[in-house]
Amino acid sequence: MDSAPVIEDLQPLLASPELRVVVDSVRDYAIFLLDINGTVLSWNPGAQRIKGYAPQEIIGQSFTRFYTPEDRARGRPFELLAEAVREGRSEEEGWRVRNDGTRFWADVVISAIRGSGGQVRGFVKVTRDLTDRLRAEEQLRQGEERLRLMIGSVREYAIFMLDPQGRVATWNAGAAALKGYEASEIIGQHISRFYRPEDLPAQKAERELGIAAETGRFEEEAWRVRKDGSRFWANVVLSAVRNASGELIGFTKVTRDMTDRMRADEQIRERARQQSLLADLGLHALRTPELPKVIEEAVRTVRQTLELDEVRVLRAGEEKPPGATSVSIHASTVGAPPYGELAVWGAPGSRELGFLQAVANVIAAAVGRAQVEDQLRSAERKAVEEREKTGRANEALRERDEFISVAAHELRTPVTALTLKLQSLERAVNIREAKPGRLEGAIRQTDRLARLIDRLLDVSHIAQQGLRMSREKFDLAALVRQVVDDFRDPAAQAGTALELEIDEPVEGVWDRLRIEQVLVNILSNALKYGAGKPVSLRVESDPDGVRVTVADRGIGIAAGDAGRLFGKFQRAASIRHYGGMGLGLYITRHIVEAHGGTITVESEQGQGSTFVVELPRFPPAEAAAGEPAEGARA
Ligand code: ADP
Repeated sequence: MDSAPVIEDLQPLLASPELRVVVDSVRDYAIFLLDINGTVLSWNPGAQRIKGYAPQEIIGQSFTRFYTPEDRARGRPFELLAEAVREGRSEEEGWRVRNDGTRFWADVVISAIRGSGGQVRGFVKVTRDLTDRLRAEEQLRQGEERLRLMIGSVREYAIFMLDPQGRVATWNAGAAALKGYEASEIIGQHISRFYRPEDLPAQKAERELGIAAETGRFEEEAWRVRKDGSRFWANVVLSAVRNASGELIGFTKVTRDMTDRMRADEQIRERARQQSLLADLGLHALRTPELPKVIEEAVRTVRQTLELDEVRVLRAGEEKPPGATSVSIHASTVGAPPYGELAVWGAPGSRELGFLQAVANVIAAAVGRAQVEDQLRSAERKAVEEREKTGRANEALRERDEFISVAAHELRTPVTALTLKLQSLERAVNIREAKPGRLEGAIRQTDRLARLIDRLLDVSHIAQQGLRMSREKFDLAALVRQVVDDFRDPAAQAGTALELEIDEPVEGVWDRLRIEQVLVNILSNALKYGAGKPVSLRVESDPDGVRVTVADRGIGIAAGDAGRLFGKFQRAASIRHYGGMGLGLYITRHIVEAHGGTITVESEQGQGSTFVVELPRFPPAEAAAGEPAEGARA
């Protein structure tokens, strides 16, 4: 009221050019005078711009037309004048009407103008168009509302505000979902309760707020705790909020649950680690031949990789212990595999099971390999034993042959001397006596002894350097006939008829003495094993060779024995009934083969035997080439 201007008459005010200049220059405000009844007395360009009336249209009109019909109906215009009279001024924000009927939001101040006596002479009215500001304010309000709704509805992020001390000031749905607190329980609480107990001594929350306050922002990924005590891996961004004058008024905090992503990352890392440990195990298994060591390493690998306390490899057939989870070891072995399953305790997940199976497969491969190696080793061992055995046998044979050779050589000289002595004795006795019976017996025995020694010498020759042949051209038919003649007497004594069938003559190049030896051996066997039955002898020939067949009807030879009788010291007949060292056929075969020929036997036990000797007429090329000169016999 005191500040109200005191003016006696409005007219000089209206006429004042200074005031006019000021008022007219104002374009943002409508400034005009009203008389005591509210009639418009003056009009400035601002009023014209805001309200849309030219001065001549409005001067002299009532100010009520600036008001809405509703305001006019309730007498609002005059209330404001009355208030201005009473209080010196009235002010309101409200809707006003332009000349074209449109409305605008106005800030209106009406000031009373008083005369010196205190009575009111009129009013100054200043109106400002606030429509733009109102719109901006409305937009801002709506924007804030939208933001609030948006933040409120975001569920993926916990978005909330803290006061400068770090106490929760707002709470959104995301925060409730993520951390498990309702707004009512957490607003006003310090954020340190979102941290792990072990973070508290270090004042981690306070430190982070400090960094945000200082630098404007703090971000980290770390463990946070929910209301129920469970933990999650969080991405946290703390931002300081300051007012226009730079004063810290709080913080915004945006927290996101990164547990799943971290788990995924971790899984990738874990899988890579498992793969590399598996590769290490495989390499170890390749380098380590001992199966138990591979198993040990496999168990160690599983224990370390999966951080399990108890890991065991079960033997095949061993029952799975209670509480264990296991995978099979599919070893492809010939017999029963030594191991059955790889068992662990502490409920592993599906990924761990995959890893376990891979380890079990490495074990299976190692088992398979160990078995193959075992087989190789035992085969090797057997081969070595076999070699040793044959080595020993060969050694024994060699020693026997050596003994035979030494014995035969040692015996030969005294037996020859004995023979000569007996012969000269025989001659001397013959002169005096007609029947030197006992001497004859001694001579016969000595002859046998000499023949035996000769055989032994032949055997040792065959073993050492082979039989030497001394070839000449002769008639084999004649030789056969001569040998058969020599056998007439013994055959007659044995009651055996000798039948001879022969084509004449059969010329060829052979060793006469050796061939004679062959004939004697076969024929004497036929008499020995076929005594009392006829023995037939046939000589056949063609341009290439000759065949001598000697058939008896004696004891015969069992089918299984026929093959081996041509070997050294091989006999088939019972030693009680038949003597002999089993050397005759052996030497015979060597003589025949040295001539490039063959000797075979066909026989049936109890029915008799047929020996067939086939000889080429001429020596084989290689034998002839390597042959020493005639008469070089040892
Ligand atoms: P041995 O001096 O023992 O007769 P041989 O080498 O001449 O030696 O003969 C070997 C074996 O062959 C004899 O022990 C005998 O069992 C068998 N044998 C040889 N010839 C005949 C035959 N004509 N009939 C039956 N068995 C024979």
